[in-house]
Amino acid sequence: MRVGGNGTGRWSVAFLALALLSACASAPQKPVVPEATLDLPGGEFLFAHAPEDTRAANMVRRAVAKASPQLARWGTFQEPVTLVIHPDHAALERAANRSGYDFLRAWARYEQVEVQSPQTWTRSGASQKQVDELLLHELTHSLMYQSSATVSDWTRKGIPLWFSEGMASFTAGQGYRVPSLEDLARFLHQHPQADPLARAESLYESENATVYGAAHHAFTFLMTRYGEERIRSTFSVMRQGRDFNAAFQEAIGIPVDAFLRDFRRYVYLRGFKGGRLNPPPSRPRDEDKGLPWIPLLPPSTPGPSGSPDTTLEPTSATR
Ligand SMILES: [Zn+2]
Repeated sequence: MRVGGNGTGRWSVAFLALALLSACASAPQKPVVPEATLDLPGGEFLFAHAPEDTRAANMVRRAVAKASPQLARWGTFQEPVTLVIHPDHAALERAANRSGYDFLRAWARYEQVEVQSPQTWTRSGASQKQVDELLLHELTHSLMYQSSATVSDWTRKGIPLWFSEGMASFTAGQGYRVPSLEDLARFLHQHPQADPLARAESLYESENATVYGAAHHAFTFLMTRYGEERIRSTFSVMRQGRDFNAAFQEAIGIPVDAFLRDFRRYVYLRGFKGGRLNPPPSRPRDEDKGLPWIPLLPPSTPGPSGSPDTTLEPTSATR
């Protein structure tokens, strides 16, 4: 159910502005004007910002409009989303309740996205293209939360970082930003104890680029092997009450840890370099049939994981 027309939206934002003022000193000082509402086929969007950030808010507004059709593959927003434009990085970190995340430029929740003013991303400010990419990434997060849960239980679904970041990075076409599969393979060989997927949270700050890269490639592998219809089913099963692990198993057809082992083998054995690997001795599972472009790899053995060894700087500014 979508709620809120123009009137409801206006009151929502006024309420939001008051709430932010009490919670965060750098919150927008005034509610947005009604004209800042954007009502699109995929959802309703509101914009909260101080008057001096109007130009930045307009960049964000254009980016939201561009993102909307690209988000349609995952569904539509059930609730309005408010984009809060913060004047600087410190204000964003306070709103996100995170500190020391210098790379962060935005933070997405169920029905609100915090955005650092694009004019402060670099000395000369961000380009519209950069803002477009960031907003598509962030709105993918919010849409995934809304598709999978209610506003009261979205933080309790146990959606892992690799899945949410991988989905957002995939949707926003950010593969060019992250370490390659070959980088990831080297990492797994050189750092057998680290696990940038199942234990992504523990590496998020120290090995940010590798965590995002592993997430992007794992989600791409999931899309290629199982298809987006099953991924959408994962959301609807979660919305019916299941947590992520149960929904994944029901919709995709295998347990999450089995999928992650498959992906790990694919990377570790460099299955992405077609033709280098022999097929497995056993029959493929049903879900592997018809996907010859992803080599079937031998059964996994407990083991190697890696710690990040990428030369890529964490250029992404999202979470
Ligand atoms: Zn993200």
